[in-house]
Amino acid sequence: MTEPFKKSIDGLYCIERWEKEFPGLIAGFTSKNEGSGIFNKLNTAFHVHDDPSAVRQNRIRIGEKTGIPVRQWVGCEQTHSTHIEQVTKEDSGRGALDYDSALSSTDGLYTNDLGILLTLCYADCVPLYFCDRSSKRIGTAHAGWKGSVGGIGSAMIKKWEKQGSRLEDIEVVIGPSICGNCYKVGKMVTDEAEKWYSRYETRSFLPVSDEPDTFYFSLQNFNKDIFLKSGVLEENIYMTHLCTSCSPDFFSYRRDGGHTGRMMSYIGWKE
Ligand SMILES: [Zn+2]
Repeated sequence: MTEPFKKSIDGLYCIERWEKEFPGLIAGFTSKNEGSGIFNKLNTAFHVHDDPSAVRQNRIRIGEKTGIPVRQWVGCEQTHSTHIEQVTKEDSGRGALDYDSALSSTDGLYTNDLGILLTLCYADCVPLYFCDRSSKRIGTAHAGWKGSVGGIGSAMIKKWEKQGSRLEDIEVVIGPSICGNCYKVGKMVTDEAEKWYSRYETRSFLPVSDEPDTFYFSLQNFNKDIFLKSGVLEENIYMTHLCTSCSPDFFSYRRDGGHTGRMMSYIGWKE
């Protein structure tokens, strides 16, 4: 499968296929390149003890690059939940330049409006992107292991179906995140994942030799399987090859020992 993300000259990874197919759609993932603050990089998150004014500057810079300014952004206090909120233009600016105004305990966002940029932060967790090519409904979700096995990808699809989206119109992108070779998990994760699949039934888990009950876990493959189980057509699922731990372009919570910045997923229609 071709890589859905393309690194642009300004350091952002845009979802090239969508930006070409849907004129006016802005969607992608930030890298850690450039920027300022304690990490001296493009950290986008307020909650990682960075200098808030540097984070604001980084965000304003991204707003200029994407063409959708920060006053039109929406952000969340993310808690590895499966809670999803529908937002409208009225929510514009929440969580954009401070943390206090962000939507509380929310890990997925969607909208039917133009002129609002949905944003979520990551360091190894999986950014999921959603687009209904018929209604132009768009969304993004933050799926770490808890959100993934909790089925946040499936929860978004179900909400959209209830609001009239047809499964055949929904396209999804699975974005840059820690790959299966870099991410070892134990029984706590596989036990939860077995609500969806037997650990031996899915390509998402590979046993680690000499370490009982330990598996290499591909969050990317797992989310693809969840989408298939939810009825999304396989030809409408695009998955990245980019790993946040393998690539020096990204912050990685695991590789960087926990103290690190965050990238941002973003999706929005220009007005
Ligand atoms: Zn990797």
